Amino acid sequence: MKEPQPLVFTGTLILPDRLLSNGIVVCAGDRISAVGSAGEFAIPRDATVIEAGSGYLAPGYVDIHVHGGANADYMDGTRAAVITANRAHARHGTTSIFPTTTTGSRAQIDAMLRAARAVRDDGGVENGARVAGVHFYGPYFAEDKVGCHIVSGRRDPDPEEYQAHFDLGIVRVATCAAELPGMEAFFREASRRGYFCTCGHSNSTWTEMQRAYDAGMRHVDHFWCAMSSVPSVRARFGTPSQGSMEQFVLMRSEMSTEVIADLCHLAPELLEFAYAMKGARRLCLVTDANRALDMPPGRYRFGAEADNDWFESDGRVGFIPGGGLASSIVGMDTMVRNMKTATSCGIVDAVRMGSLTPAERVGLDADIGSLAAGKRADILCLDTDLAVKRVFIGGREFEGRT
Ligand SMILES: [Zn+2]
Ligand SMILES: [Zn+2]
Repeated sequence: MKEPQPLVFTGTLILPDRLLSNGIVVCAGDRISAVGSAGEFAIPRDATVIEAGSGYLAPGYVDIHVHGGANADYMDGTRAAVITANRAHARHGTTSIFPTTTTGSRAQIDAMLRAARAVRDDGGVENGARVAGVHFYGPYFAEDKVGCHIVSGRRDPDPEEYQAHFDLGIVRVATCAAELPGMEAFFREASRRGYFCTCGHSNSTWTEMQRAYDAGMRHVDHFWCAMSSVPSVRARFGTPSQGSMEQFVLMRSEMSTEVIADLCHLAPELLEFAYAMKGARRLCLVTDANRALDMPPGRYRFGAEADNDWFESDGRVGFIPGGGLASSIVGMDTMVRNMKTATSCGIVDAVRMGSLTPAERVGLDADIGSLAAGKRADILCLDTDLAVKRVFIGGREFEGRT
């Protein structure tokens, strides 16, 4: 394959701590070689120059919690499903993606992990967002907090099962509900392997969270969704009222969390509250998008197409019949824009929460997450409303925008 011409981007750069107008990003192959003010670096004569015009240059987004898109769910368990979803998310600015398992049979989860691994090993900009690892999310959910996931597919942690899944070498983020028997061994093993450990779909108490924390857990999935509160813990144990996941995350500076900023799951004041309490270094934006992303309103399955429950998309969000939300149907571009317009965080922190912060939390910030020399050339051209105009993944333009 012919090497691409050197790429140079000029315009207003969105850096992790500030905007830099008249900025320049020089790429060599799949990496960024220099970032600075225009005039600081000579532009190679044969370079292709991409000008952001009145818009912005941003790092590609990093989504650590996402189920699918364009009518594909990662749990469909095929390479085609992974690629279809990854291409859909690339159109929305995600360049590093963590396909996320749900509840389901061991065979379904195994198929999903193998499919994600095969697509990761293929690489290729035409496959859309690059698989940076799998988020092993289901099946270790608490029965009373399964939310939109099929309850028959949940179970308690089984070391024989998760070791086999972990041994496939594709998991990078690991979720378990903190009240389940075997939780500590699960988090210890995941930590030992260097995974980012998170608690979700859980009705755990402060004490259970502390045990999980001691075993390496440092994050809670989709804050205020399918998680415990003081009243929900009181329903388990009565009085005195005990602390819940909410207090644990807010009190512990090392704990991070994530929000679904589609304005359907959480009202603006909760997005503002989460940002004010945790700050941009401990709050991630995730899409948690399902297969109805970029699809018309209608009925879809959450999880594997074969046997999972239906939900309804109204074009804004997914619903479970009879109430309750079934995760989002919009991309990271919308989450970043909503965070900027609905809260006081500003453009720099809004982009950071969709890029560098998740990269830091999973330990990949030396490689991705910001416009910095040495990192992968994952670069977005955004317009003034933060709509994605062009997407570059590893220094190559993703052409599948339509
Ligand atoms: Zn969930
Ligand atoms: Zn989810």
